[in-house]
Amino acid sequence: MTAKTAGGIWVVAEQVAGRINTVSYELLSKACALKKQLKSPEPVVAVVLGKAVEEIEQLGRFGAEEIITVFAPALEIYQNDTYALVLQDLITARDPSLVLMGATAIGQDLAPVLGARLKTGVAAHCVDVRINEDNYLVAVVPAFGGKVLGDILCPNTRPQMATLKPGVLGKPTTVSEPSFIITNYDPSCSLQKDQGRIKALEVVRQEQTGMPLEEAEVIVIGGWGIGSQENWTLLEELASLLGGAVGCTRPVVDEQWVKSEQQMIGTSGKSVRPKVYLGFALSGATHHVCGMKDSGLVISVNKDAAAPIFAVSDLRIVGDAKTFLTALIKRIKGK
Ligand SMILES: Cc1cc2nc3c(=O)[nH]c(=O)nc-3n(C[C@H](O)[C@H](O)[C@H](O)COP(=O)(O)OP(=O)(O)OC[C@H]3O[C@@H](n4cnc5c(N)ncnc54)[C@H](O)[C@@H]3O)c2cc1C
Repeated sequence: MTAKTAGGIWVVAEQVAGRINTVSYELLSKACALKKQLKSPEPVVAVVLGKAVEEIEQLGRFGAEEIITVFAPALEIYQNDTYALVLQDLITARDPSLVLMGATAIGQDLAPVLGARLKTGVAAHCVDVRINEDNYLVAVVPAFGGKVLGDILCPNTRPQMATLKPGVLGKPTTVSEPSFIITNYDPSCSLQKDQGRIKALEVVRQEQTGMPLEEAEVIVIGGWGIGSQENWTLLEELASLLGGAVGCTRPVVDEQWVKSEQQMIGTSGKSVRPKVYLGFALSGATHHVCGMKDSGLVISVNKDAAAPIFAVSDLRIVGDAKTFLTALIKRIKGK
């Protein structure tokens, strides 16, 4: 490993089954923007744990000036305790100012444990980050039920850590002239301390049902006002007729009208950018809007003319969702 250089804007690049998660590139683009905002620019560094991946140099194309690889058989499958232990030692040795991670299943699991080990704060589920006039990281997080966007600062401890949702930062941009070094970090000293309290034995992949939200050009989204599982099937029918995907708000996940939590859109769900967003019986809480605000044409149906979703809609239909859905399906079927 090269000599210790204090400081740095670090991105923990997530690698699963030999693929780098695209949120890592989004975070690197943001890290490059933060670098420009810092009073004295610090290097952008990507850290990859696990095993060798073909795409490793891509991290440089998206702005990493140094890529630290931490490869070992014990790290090939993500394990909270082990990853946190290794990253704790690495971060303590190199002392970065900022550490960004994706608010993915792994990032959400790892970041708080790592933050606790490093005795620093973690701003979770952020929708943006910036550097303020005092040179601190400002993490923007929806608060008070999503009604306001709050700024979280961590001025007294280092590193300043934040997790950001995949997709919220927009399309990552490549740098015109990538220039990076690859540093191999040997984690064996850290691994010797691992008590192996938790051991992942295998990864079982859950088959995705239906069209992934991220790939759909049309998304039909239902909210709590849909009212029942029976009514929910109308949304699925409409999505299938339009060749689109079905998304939902959090109460719908709680009611278990959807098959998978992966269908939720918003700060704790997915961020989407369909060409057409068709929202039925959902209020438009900030937690949801954060995940759909970059959609193309937004069409909403709500019985309440004052529903906040109408403020971000291009077409507003005030009325009963079930009545409208039934009529629309009938019209599309040509009946
Ligand atoms: C930390 C945190 C994270 C969160 N993350 C997310 C997230 O990622 N995604 C998310 O969606 N939520 C999230 N939430 C929850 C979020 O704050 C809102 O509570 C949620 O989005 C509201 O869902 P809804 O619009 O379906 O329900 P409601 O707010 O209850 O709205 C229902 C709407 O349906 C309308 N309606 C009722 N009946 C009918 C009818 N027959 N016809 C037409 N309209 C009708 C009503 O007028 C109302 O506007 C989060 C909350 C917290 C605290």
